[in-house]
Amino acid sequence: MAVTHYRSCPLCEATCGVAIDVEGTQVTAVRGDAADPFSRGYLCPKATALADLHHDPDRLKRPLVREGASWREVGWDEAFDRVASRLKAVRAAHGPDAVAVYQGNPTAHNLGLMTYGQLFLRRLGTKNAYSATSLDQLPHMLAALQMFGDQFLMPVPDIDRSDCFVALGANPLASNGSLMTAPDVRGRLKAILANGGQVIVIDPRRTETAQLASRHLFIRPGGDAALLLSLLHVLFAEGLARPGRLAGFTDGLDPLAAIAAAYPPARTAALTGVAADDVAALARTLAGAARPVVYGRLGVCTQAFGGLAAWLCYAVNVVLGALDTPGGLMFTTPAIDALPLARTLGFDGGFDRWRSRVRGLPEFGGELPAVTLVDEIETPGPGQVRALVTSAGNPALSTPGGPRLERALATLEFMVSIDPHLNETTRHAHVILPPTSALERSDYDVALAMFGVRNVARYSPAVFARGDDQRHDWEIAAELAARVHLPAPLAGFAARAARALPPDRILELGLRAGPHRLSLGKVKAAPHGLDLGPLEPRLPGRLRHRDRRIQLAPAIYQRELARLDRALAEAPGPDALILIGRRHLRSNNSWMHNSLRLVKGKPRCTLLMHPDDARARGLADGAMARLASPVGAVEVPVELTADLMPGVVSLPHGWGHHRAGARLTVAAAHAGVSMNDVIDPACVDELTGTAVLAGQAVTVTAAAAGAVA
Ligand code: SF4
Repeated sequence: MAVTHYRSCPLCEATCGVAIDVEGTQVTAVRGDAADPFSRGYLCPKATALADLHHDPDRLKRPLVREGASWREVGWDEAFDRVASRLKAVRAAHGPDAVAVYQGNPTAHNLGLMTYGQLFLRRLGTKNAYSATSLDQLPHMLAALQMFGDQFLMPVPDIDRSDCFVALGANPLASNGSLMTAPDVRGRLKAILANGGQVIVIDPRRTETAQLASRHLFIRPGGDAALLLSLLHVLFAEGLARPGRLAGFTDGLDPLAAIAAAYPPARTAALTGVAADDVAALARTLAGAARPVVYGRLGVCTQAFGGLAAWLCYAVNVVLGALDTPGGLMFTTPAIDALPLARTLGFDGGFDRWRSRVRGLPEFGGELPAVTLVDEIETPGPGQVRALVTSAGNPALSTPGGPRLERALATLEFMVSIDPHLNETTRHAHVILPPTSALERSDYDVALAMFGVRNVARYSPAVFARGDDQRHDWEIAAELAARVHLPAPLAGFAARAARALPPDRILELGLRAGPHRLSLGKVKAAPHGLDLGPLEPRLPGRLRHRDRRIQLAPAIYQRELARLDRALAEAPGPDALILIGRRHLRSNNSWMHNSLRLVKGKPRCTLLMHPDDARARGLADGAMARLASPVGAVEVPVELTADLMPGVVSLPHGWGHHRAGARLTVAAAHAGVSMNDVIDPACVDELTGTAVLAGQAVTVTAAAAGAVA
C-alpha cells in the first residue's frame, strides 16, 4: 500500500511542496502538494527527478578509491583514514593553502552541508577556497555587503504585490526564480498582467519569460550597467526620483545623481543596443507605476560589468522608492535568521582582503574566484594547490576552461570528492565519499527561505531511512573534521559528539532564536509548511552597517566607472558574435542529466542563432556548427530562431557528458557539449572576479559534416 510523504523539493530554489507516494522501497509518484501554502500544488517537470536521482543505478552508496584507472569499493573507516592522512600530509608539507576547496551550489539546498560541511571546509583555513558563487550571484552579494552591510542581506522582489515587474538577465519561467524563491513564477507573473500591471523583460533573447511579458527589449550582452545608468539619468533628469522615506537613512543620493548625469541614453545606446527613446520610456513607466520593482539575475552578474550592474539594480529600486516597500524589493523575515548563523559558520563577510597568488584576483567572503583555481594548481611556488576537496560540485563542466582544469586536476597529489556520482570532475578524485540521497535525509531550507517571496517554514523529513553502510553529508563532514582538524586521541570523541548533535538540533536552536520564536516540534507538526505571512518592511533596523544607513554610492563602484567609460568609447564591432548561456525548465546545471525523463526527446543542447547570422555563415537549421573561441571549440547542432538578438548565439550550460571514465549512463547517451569548453577563464568582471559567462566573443562556422552548399 502506498504511503504519502510530504516535504519540499530540493532540486531548485523554488522549494515547492511535494507529495511523494512510496510503496516499499520504491517511489511510485511525485505530486505537487496542494495543501502547501507557498507552492499551492505547483510542480515543474524536474520534480520527477527526485525519484530518478534516488533510484539511479549509477548512484554511489559506498566510498570508492581509485587505483590507476580502476575503482575499488572500500569501507567508510578506511576511506576516512585515507582522506585524513593524505590531507594532513599535504598540509604538513606545504601549508594550509596547498589544500583547495570547491563547493557546488547544491550546498545551499542542504542543511547538513550548510552546517557541518562549512565547519569542516572552512576550518581547513585555506585561502584557496572556491565555489559556484563566483560563477553566479557574487555581484549581488557584494552589492548587499557594500550597500546594506551583509553579503547575505539581499532583497527579493515582492512579486505578488508588484504592478510593474522588470527583469534583466533573468528567465524565471525556466529557473522558477533565483535569489527569489517563488514557486510557479508563471502564475505569479500572469496575475500581475491580469490585474492590469506590466511585466517587462530586458534580455538578449526573447526568453520564455519574455514571451509571457507585456514588453520585451533586446539588450547586448554586457550592456546592463550602462542601461541602468541611463535609466537613473532619466529618473534624475526628469525629476522622477522618489526615494521617499528611504532618503532618511540613505547616503549617496547626490553622488549617484552626479554619476548618472554622465550617462544619457544616447551615449549608451551603441553599447546596450537599446534605443534612447526606449530607455526614457522605461524610466517613465517605472516612475509611473504604483509598485515597481527591478529584478536582475544571472545575466546581470556573469558579465564584464557584473559588479556595477548588480549594484545599479539595487540602486534603481532605491531611487524609485521601491526598496523595503510592498511590491518592491523587500527583505525577508525567515524563521531562522541566517545572518548570525552564517557568521558562526565562518562567513564573516569582506571583500578584497587578499588577492589570489597567480592572477591577483580579489577575495570575497573568504573565497577566491573559481576561474583561477586552475592557475593555482598549475603554477609552481609557495602556496601552490596540491590537493583538492570538492563537495557537491562539478567544476569540470561548470567552470570556464573546463578541459584545462581537468588536465590540472589530473596532476594533483590528492583529491577527494563528496559526491554521489562518478562524474566529469570526481573521475579525477582519488577517493569519492558518496552521501545519502535527498530522500534519505531530513532537511530544512535555511538558505532559500532567506529569498522567499513569502515567509514560510517547512521541515522535510527523510522519506527513506539510510542504510547502515551509508553516510549523510553532515556525517561525512563531521567525521572528516574530527580526523583532519583534531589530534587522534580527540578525533573519536569529537566524531561521537557530532553524531549526538545532528543538524536537527542546530535547527531547533535556530528556530527558537529566530524572529518567529518557533520550535522544531511546531514546524514538524505542519507537514505542508507554516505560512508566516507576507514580507514586511524591515528598514532601517535590518541594515547591518553600524550606522544603519544604506550606502547608495560606494567608492568601489565609483572607481569602476572608468572601465565602463572605456567600453563606451569602443564601439562594438558589428561582425562579432557574442555567446550567452541559457537554462531549460527540465535542467539545472549538470546534475540532472542522468534522469531519462528529463533528457529524452528533442535534443536541448543546441546553439541558438538568428537566421541572418546563420545565413551569413552558410548554416541551415539543424546543421552542425563549430563554435570556437581562443581557448577551445565544440561542434553542436544549430537551431535557428528570431527570438535571439542578431549578433548573439546561445548555448545551454551543464552539458558535455562524453568524458571517458564518468559513470553517468543516461547523461553519456545525451551528452551535448560543454559551454565552458569555449569560455575563456581569463575573462572576468575585473571588479569582482566573477566569470564572464555572458558576453565572450566567439566564431561560428560550418562543421565539416554540417556545411551547407
Ligand atoms: S520548480 Fe524547483 S522546487 Fe519546484 S518542483 Fe521544480 S525543481 Fe522542484
